[in-house]
Amino acid sequence: FRCLGIETSCDETGVAVYELGRGLLAQALHSQAAVHARYGGVVPELASRDHVRRLPALVRQALAEAGLSPSGLDGVAYTAGPGLIGALLVGAAFGRALAWSLGVPAVAVHHLEGHLLAPLLEPDPPAFPFVALLVSGGHTQLLAVAGVGRYRLLGESRDDAAGEAFDKTAKLLGLGYPGGPALAALADRGRPGRFRFPRPMTDRPGLDFSFSGLKTHALYTLREAGGDEQTRADIACAFQEAVVETLVIKCRRALRATGFRRLVVAGGVGANRALREALDALARAEGVRVHYPRPAFCTDNGAMIALAGCLRLAAGEAAGLEVEARPRWPVEALAPPGG
Ligand code: ATP
Ligand code: MG
Ligand code: FE
Repeated sequence: FRCLGIETSCDETGVAVYELGRGLLAQALHSQAAVHARYGGVVPELASRDHVRRLPALVRQALAEAGLSPSGLDGVAYTAGPGLIGALLVGAAFGRALAWSLGVPAVAVHHLEGHLLAPLLEPDPPAFPFVALLVSGGHTQLLAVAGVGRYRLLGESRDDAAGEAFDKTAKLLGLGYPGGPALAALADRGRPGRFRFPRPMTDRPGLDFSFSGLKTHALYTLREAGGDEQTRADIACAFQEAVVETLVIKCRRALRATGFRRLVVAGGVGANRALREALDALARAEGVRVHYPRPAFCTDNGAMIALAGCLRLAAGEAAGLEVEARPRWPVEALAPPGG
């Protein structure tokens, strides 16, 4: 079973072809970072328009790379949510219409299911069940994953997502958009120990997060200590350390609470090197395994949507002819494939 995947939920246009039993055949990605950089964040209308501009060429490119004509596809998967409504509608309308014209089924994929299943694109994929730490631009969640489509929310952020906290703090420090990777690079030049940021909500039981206070803490520290290059690097270092340690503490709790022996890390912040090193150390200490997608599959991409869609379509699941776009869509509402 061979499936085209289309991702347009935010500011990346992603397309890929995945075949069950063979794996990823091709992928193409266009990042809109340059479009949004001068506004300091994603401008929804510009995102929609750029998806319209890029998507047809990316689909052709992915098909060519896979050595396929459109008739070689057995199904089409598109991200239906959560995300920006206009951006989602571009991929949804394109994907639904393409499937209709080819006479093959289409499936509406949940973006976070795509992120969660991304480690299955790698060699030595994780077996179920596992604890998933989803750390992206819009979400910070811990989930108990019993199988495809069987997701139980263990905890989540009550305010900013981890990626959002990285982006906002980066902006404060005068770094460009998207700020996560830039802040991580600045943190490498920081001196650990000069500042100590709080580890929010780790002093009480539970698996929820709160990251908005860290950006405020960064702002006050910056005002007090001044904004020279070394100080900004020291603040970046202390901020990253606080986010990483907070995530590690909650992952440890989630692993112990569920008794699961595997941890999956997904979403853009999963590309962060300091976080990976800390979670590797946690896994060694707890005697569990940790799985990451390659960094390029932590952030948004078409491959994870093609994979998730393939698993659902091959199980006989298919949506109707409507174009589905759901800006809000809880991941717990999903059911196993074919259900
Ligand atoms: P969601 O998936 O919740 O809808 P999104 O799709 O915008 O949100 P992703 O593409 O998964 O989010 O991830 C983007 C986020 O990851 C941004 O906030 C970005 O700053 C952050 N990020 C990417 N690389 C790194 C890194 N190396 N260190 C820290 N943060 C990073
Ligand atoms: Mg993005
Ligand atoms: Fe995402």
